[in-house]
Amino acid sequence: MPEKRLPFTKKQILEIIEKYPTPFHIYDEKAIRKNAREFKKAFAWNKGFKEYFAVKACPNPYIMKILQAEGFGADCSSLAELVMSEKTGFSGEEIMFSSNDTPAEDFVKARKLKATINLDDFSHIAYLEKIAGLPEMICFRYNPGPLKKGNVIIGHPEESKYGFTRDQLFEGYRICRDKGIKRFGIHIFVASNELDPNYFVETADILFRLIAEVSHALNIRFEFANLSGGIGIPYRPEQNRIDLTAMSRGIKEKYENIIVGGGFAPLKIFTECGRYITGPYGYLVSKVLHIKDTYKQFAGLDACMANLMRPAIYGAYHHITVLGKEKQPPNFMYDVTGSLCENNDKFAIDRMLPKLTPGDTVVIHDTGAHGFAMGFNYNGKLRSAELLLREDGSVVQIRRAETLKDYFATLDFKELKKFKIK
Ligand SMILES: *Cc1c(COP(=O)(O)O)cnc(C)c1O
Repeated sequence: MPEKRLPFTKKQILEIIEKYPTPFHIYDEKAIRKNAREFKKAFAWNKGFKEYFAVKACPNPYIMKILQAEGFGADCSSLAELVMSEKTGFSGEEIMFSSNDTPAEDFVKARKLKATINLDDFSHIAYLEKIAGLPEMICFRYNPGPLKKGNVIIGHPEESKYGFTRDQLFEGYRICRDKGIKRFGIHIFVASNELDPNYFVETADILFRLIAEVSHALNIRFEFANLSGGIGIPYRPEQNRIDLTAMSRGIKEKYENIIVGGGFAPLKIFTECGRYITGPYGYLVSKVLHIKDTYKQFAGLDACMANLMRPAIYGAYHHITVLGKEKQPPNFMYDVTGSLCENNDKFAIDRMLPKLTPGDTVVIHDTGAHGFAMGFNYNGKLRSAELLLREDGSVVQIRRAETLKDYFATLDFKELKKFKIK
């Protein structure tokens, strides 16, 4: 059985906590870089392959800078993510803009940055043209509808709000071709946290066949196929990592048959993974505040759902290690909770752990993607700091914790004093 490991010892964490109080997320640079290199290597057969890191998974410019150094681009879906990518030093076609229900100002910014624009809807062709002009390269997001089964997080493609239908795609590319666009890409995203490599091979098959058909029908040439994100990670200790080599090999076979065989090569393969790139390499470090013994045993932490929402919204499993108690038998059952006035504010339900006492340091695993990123301020809870464990073992703070001052910054208490209540 694969094991859940930590890149630090209890002693190291206690030293870090002296300087940076809990809760905080800490990311492991060495592991992020190693994984990034392996990911790139798996697709090295494709000339022009590029992974555009899905910024929303871990929107921290330090992490993005590390990934840029590893040759990754940035995949954005909002104005803030575009600005963050710009400030980090990404530009032009290093940025993929895959948004939906897109506000005008986002398109304007994406055009200014000369980002590659991936349209989510047929009506956005005219909308983009009107507000920011059409770019020299265009990409559309395909929703295969009943051709493809979805999964729990993302749901069925037919129910999904994303993407063009097949007919809309043909029509959309035709319109853009007739308007003089010569560079084309295509995008598909139908899985989330998927661990079966075949799922991605099938998806590539659907997309490559479509490329062949559209290219024939409209006499256009595709420059890239964006297979997007959705590659899963083993949150549970009994799960294994996805077999990336098998996945890449499967995609390569389809590429050779359909793309090379049909005369559509070269075609660059792009991905937009978030979770797979940083998910396993982030940890939420927290302390036990209270142990409560009522109808159940509750271990209350100093972190809450505002620091990690996945267990509460998807019932997602996140492994928990109690530092210094790794060798003790997990003979005690707890609901591990936060302090929000919401009963679903639980990191784990009926979790078997060693006996806990207030002051214990707990580490919640796999918070490197869609962890801090989903944070919010309900109940006036503040977002935590983010730390980076560097390759040499040193620790830097890459985002400070929010303060009450930050929380109140959008309110004007001077005006409140003048505000008369009759
Ligand atoms: C969320 C998202 C991704 C990344 O998904 P992961 O599951 O983190 O790999 C990529 N592209 C788009 C358009 C997304 O919305």
